[in-house]
Amino acid sequence: MDDISMKPQQLTITALSEEGEGIGRLDGMAVFIPGALPGETVECHLVEQKKNYARGRLTQILAASPARVSPPCPYFPECGGCQLQHLDYPAQLEAKRVTVQDALERIGGFKGIDVPLTLGMAEPFRYRNNGQYPIRKVNGQVRIGFFKAGSHEVIDIKDCLIQPEINARVVAALKTWIQESGVTTYNPKTQEGMMRHLMIRHSNITGGLMVVLVATVKTLPGEAGLIERLRGAVPEIESLVLNTNTKPGSQVLGPQSRVIYGKERIFGEIDGFKFGISPLSFFQVNTAQTKVLYQKAIEFADLKGSETVFDVYSGIGTISLSLSRKARKVYGIESVRPAVEDAVENARRAGVEHVEFIAGKAEDVMPRLAEQGVRPDVVVLDPPRKGCEPEVLRTLLDMKPEKIIYVSCKPSTLARDLKILCVGGESGLEEPAYRLAAVQPVDLFGETGHVEAIILMTRSGSGDKK
Ligand code: SAH
Repeated sequence: MDDISMKPQQLTITALSEEGEGIGRLDGMAVFIPGALPGETVECHLVEQKKNYARGRLTQILAASPARVSPPCPYFPECGGCQLQHLDYPAQLEAKRVTVQDALERIGGFKGIDVPLTLGMAEPFRYRNNGQYPIRKVNGQVRIGFFKAGSHEVIDIKDCLIQPEINARVVAALKTWIQESGVTTYNPKTQEGMMRHLMIRHSNITGGLMVVLVATVKTLPGEAGLIERLRGAVPEIESLVLNTNTKPGSQVLGPQSRVIYGKERIFGEIDGFKFGISPLSFFQVNTAQTKVLYQKAIEFADLKGSETVFDVYSGIGTISLSLSRKARKVYGIESVRPAVEDAVENARRAGVEHVEFIAGKAEDVMPRLAEQGVRPDVVVLDPPRKGCEPEVLRTLLDMKPEKIIYVSCKPSTLARDLKILCVGGESGLEEPAYRLAAVQPVDLFGETGHVEAIILMTRSGSGDKK
């Protein structure tokens, strides 16, 4: 190890990882190098070596990519929030396309598929509707910002370029109040101190904000003064919430919330539907691009009106409602009960009656529905990063819907799951059950390494397999 780390290595970067690191090869072994870009020749020190891969620290760029740009944010790359600000936006979209294609070829075993260019944003900055800022004190100075890449040290950040500008006013006002009032801030090592996190969420309907203060206590000293201070600095605040989190660990929100000023919830709009946003409810962070993604889902589903649709991993029911316009019946399946309650309320508000939300794990609910004889024509899967449980995929092979649409935020687990559905041998069937009919990467997270893609699978063969 030591001798490797001492010797600088020279290599050519061929791709970006799912985390936005440059990938090069040394004697066939993949080396991950943060900061290096595809097409570049770089020098690095190996800092970690595993059986199948290594990590390198970039020491010199010998030949820079023409797509390399000067990062607009002064906190880049120290801040762990963005990984690609040194790459111009068209090249980010191309790199994400290649990531999807690579995963499908290498992990999925799909050869010669053509992945189209990533659908990008009109403007890859200021796009987030949700910001979560840890709060700490270092040498008596309050810091509100983001974690340093690969650490739990908080960098004080005045203005984050992927958040709306208004957030900077909330951050500044809160920082001054904490500093002046002497309220303590959380120390994760000792678990002492009050203020832990600031969360800011936006309504794309009113432009108003929900501000959530996460603390270890149920009441803050001088709360009335704080409310006045924040409202004075940011009149756009529609809802101010104190959330109590006493549990050690990295989870931001605790189970209890109390509205200390204004409304219980704000509202977001996607595809003409209104969604209630409360502190704990999930809502896609990039509203504009979520619309683009759902438009693709609608196009891929190509519903005629007679279909039974499953929206598996349905969250607060956003995809379910979009697809309900042209379906006979939609089942939304979601494991987080408060999300299901939100989904039911969102459907009720929209007057949609042919959508049914079922609380439970997809791997339990799907086999149960199959036993009851429910047969979907179209299934949408939108799982978390770890992908689908094998039981979900097995049940799908059993249910044989005409179409499966897979929305994924992690190409490697997507490719692993597609292999089971589309590559004959893996599924235990003589011939592949599904055919990979269309792929489309969509950028939801500009400047970061995160990659989102949507896939259409259709039944292969004539449908007479029983
Ligand atoms: N389709 C929604 C949410 C996608 S996020 C949207 O676009 O807004 C993935 C969702 O899967 C989360 O809501 C999470 O709570 C849910 N989830 C995670 N594991 C699950 C499981 N095993 N069964 C069902 N839902 C699950």
